[in-house]
Amino acid sequence: MQLKVFKFGGASVKDSEGYRNVGSILSNFSSEKIVIVVSAMGKTTNALEEVVKSYYEQDDKTSYLLEQIRESHINLIKDLFVASKDVIDDINDTLVEIEWVLEEKPHEDFDYTYDQIVSIGELLSSKILGHYLNHLNINSAWIDVRDIIITDNTYRDARIQWDITQINAASKILPVLNTKNHIVTQGFIGSSSENFTTTLGREGSDYTAAILSYCLDADSMHIWKDVPGVLTGDPRIFDEVIKLPRLSYKEAIEMTYYGAKVIHPKTIKPIQNKRIPLYVRPFLDPSSEGTVISDEKELSYPPVIVIESDQALLHISTNDFSFVAEHHLSMIFALLAKYRLKVNMMRNTAISFSVCVNNIPDRIKKFETELGHDFKMISDNDLELVTIRHFNEDVLKDMKKNKLILFEERLQDTVQMVARNLPKMKRKELQ
Ligand code: ADP
Ligand code: ASP
Ligand code: MG
Repeated sequence: MQLKVFKFGGASVKDSEGYRNVGSILSNFSSEKIVIVVSAMGKTTNALEEVVKSYYEQDDKTSYLLEQIRESHINLIKDLFVASKDVIDDINDTLVEIEWVLEEKPHEDFDYTYDQIVSIGELLSSKILGHYLNHLNINSAWIDVRDIIITDNTYRDARIQWDITQINAASKILPVLNTKNHIVTQGFIGSSSENFTTTLGREGSDYTAAILSYCLDADSMHIWKDVPGVLTGDPRIFDEVIKLPRLSYKEAIEMTYYGAKVIHPKTIKPIQNKRIPLYVRPFLDPSSEGTVISDEKELSYPPVIVIESDQALLHISTNDFSFVAEHHLSMIFALLAKYRLKVNMMRNTAISFSVCVNNIPDRIKKFETELGHDFKMISDNDLELVTIRHFNEDVLKDMKKNKLILFEERLQDTVQMVARNLPKMKRKELQ
């Protein structure tokens, strides 16, 4: 069976116009077998995070925040098509799952509760898409991805149990495709083997599409975006970016590893392992191929810049002037792994070790506490990690303008810097 996996992110379903556009894209593929993975509408995940926060703080805003989410979904449906009572009931019934959680006292495991609440965003957006496709007479079925993707119970960052997920995909998705051309399901969420909802980490819907592509042996995977494809830099930061028409899996995994926000970093491995081509395509220009990521080998690339903001540089040193020896390093790394602090850059001297990590204050605090009394830690915040692949000296000079460089490392084709942006006045003085 020829099969495509499509992923529509939050930006593509942010309003009724977005859903109409998705419907129009799908109508061009009505005779093809497609599994459609959809993210929560627009900024719904952020809004649900606010509900969780308010619930844990036990302030009086929780129900108001939830009602706003209900209203935005119902209003979108009313804008999109004349919905029957069943459709509105379906949305309200889905939100009841959150109301049940909110009736109880906050559970001691914040991450567990977070997943039970935040996962509702994808259930809502996918249900709306399912109903809308029915309304358009597009032959489709809605599937709860939690019956397919089974994970461990690392809430908010769940790991896939591949064997069972693969069995589920084959036994619960493929038979449906015998009668339906399209299947609509959710990105970002899964289920633990005890049947609790889990999430795969923020922006995880791309990864869901890759998991399903892998498990179903898809012929291609397509991520529909609000950009022409993968660009040489984030267009929100840089004016002069160009589209990369073709990328190798290796280049794509390097870019996403360093923080290119266009694709979730875990996406590439599953599709590379089965050599499935990935198209990053503009939803506003569906006839364009966008960027094709595949098994290319000898491509040459222009300079590509990736900026990861909100970095912390942790300077760890021994209290008694003893060397930072291998056994210290191994203990430090074990703690970094324990608190899931990703090492973005590092350096050591005789009595100190410095490491650049994503600034996640609660995990850094726990890490520091567990380091114990033999070490002292100073942390530098508000930093950027700048990665330039395929650099040239001009680009490098340009990127260093108005920045204080704290760390720099040059490899053959990559330069990385941890930098602080200088305040505006300083920038002027430098010109
Ligand atoms: P969605 O969640 O709708 O799938 P995202 O907002 O997560 O989409 O990702 C698309 C955004 O990624 C773009 O709007 C763009 O601002 C940003 N982006 C960052 N780096 C790049 C890059 N190198 N190429 C293209 N887009 C990028
Ligand atoms: N809705 C989730 C998020 O905003 C997952 C995704 O969009 O990929 O993080
Ligand atoms: Mg996204």
